[in-house]
Amino acid sequence: MATAQTPKSAGKGHIIIDVEKCKACELCIHFCPQENLALSESINARGFHPVRMLDEEKCNGCGNCALMCPDVCIRVFRKR
Ligand code: SF4
Ligand code: SF4
Repeated sequence: MATAQTPKSAGKGHIIIDVEKCKACELCIHFCPQENLALSESINARGFHPVRMLDEEKCNGCGNCALMCPDVCIRVFRKR
């Protein structure tokens, strides 16, 4: 008998960006394997366009963005 399977979700991660600390160096953007980060149009208090996530469902929770950020602006959470 076939067993029902839960469809796999594409997104398994979630990130929180401290936009006021971001200096828009773009390192996280270049190292995101999902090409899921970009500079936003808004400007933070330091005068930079901070990074934003493009599509919450595309984040796989790999942690590359947090590892690459020299200013520790990103925290990554894995969805279960
Ligand atoms: S955790 Fe990985 S997939 Fe998600 S935004 Fe960061 S680098 Fe991209
Ligand atoms: S690596 Fe950090 S400082 Fe650089 S753009 Fe990404 S979040 Fe901003």
